[in-house]
Amino acid sequence: MSATRDDEVDAGPEMVRPRATEPLLSVRNLTVEFDTEDGAVKAVTDLSYDLNAGETLAIMGESGSGKSVSVQALMGLLPTPPARVVAGQVHLDGQDLLKMPERRKREVRGAEIAMIFQDPLTSLNPVFKVGWQLGEMVRLHEGVSRRAARDRAVQLMEQVGIPNPKQRANQFPHQFSGGMRQRAMIAMALALSPKVLVADEPTTALDVTVQAQIMELLGQIQEATDMAMILITHDLGVVASVADRVLVMYGGRCVETAAAEEFYANPGHPYSQGLMASVPRLLSDIDRLIPIDGQPPSLINLPAGCAFHPRCIHANDNSCVSERPELIERFASDGRGRQVACHRFGEL
Ligand code: SF4
Repeated sequence: MSATRDDEVDAGPEMVRPRATEPLLSVRNLTVEFDTEDGAVKAVTDLSYDLNAGETLAIMGESGSGKSVSVQALMGLLPTPPARVVAGQVHLDGQDLLKMPERRKREVRGAEIAMIFQDPLTSLNPVFKVGWQLGEMVRLHEGVSRRAARDRAVQLMEQVGIPNPKQRANQFPHQFSGGMRQRAMIAMALALSPKVLVADEPTTALDVTVQAQIMELLGQIQEATDMAMILITHDLGVVASVADRVLVMYGGRCVETAAAEEFYANPGHPYSQGLMASVPRLLSDIDRLIPIDGQPPSLINLPAGCAFHPRCIHANDNSCVSERPELIERFASDGRGRQVACHRFGEL
């Protein structure tokens, strides 16, 4: 039988199998804007990073820094319009996520790259039982019988530490506590064994004890499956406990990226230094916390020069106010580079 036009679309873009040395996920020069009546909001500009299997990358920054938009863009979850991916490539295991047809994107979402959100109720439908929702996800993607899907749902709930999973499978989301709902959402995200899990502020709405349990659970699952994880957060404590690498965003751009250990020992960008000084650290001899003065910049009218200069205690009157600092390789003790965008790096 000859191929129809639909068949051609379903096949998706040409697959390019990655070489063993290529990262699982590669983001290059990702640039996303939103069209508004006041002008183009430059939400993400020229963002690049790599992620290997089993690795956790923490993307940090204040609200409006572009961290959530950047992952929603690669998941294909942004409403277009008003959002526009202006430039960039995103390769997952050899497939270009930005260029593939919408139907193929839907297949890839969940099966190869899945996402968990801050509020589980955005992913769980309040009018269906949790077990049924999990089972349907498996059934629709894998074509298994309803009974097999139900058994798999119970198994997944058990895997994420939900007690009495058989009984719980027959309950609605509102009958779950916040922590249990988050576990159910993690079960949903893991149902199809994705290669990459994107966790957008997954513990912000939970109390500290449950936060730790959820992060520990994600760590265990990652160890068992070699899944890669992108963790979006503003919580330096969460980052310290799980991240291999850190990427800091400010004004829609990456201003620093480094191995987590190096970042914690010696943050290179004044904004990163400000973040570190503004949170309590158990073994630090700093006796008071120092907030970063000022507000995040408008993404429609970014300041000239370095976008951080109006808030930077090290800003000079020359390059800092007139020339945007490039993200430059500084040193690379982890073999994968540390990059910082600051004119005065090394002087401070
Ligand atoms: Fe501060 Fe200048 Fe560095 Fe920007 S380039 S972070 S203003 S010192």
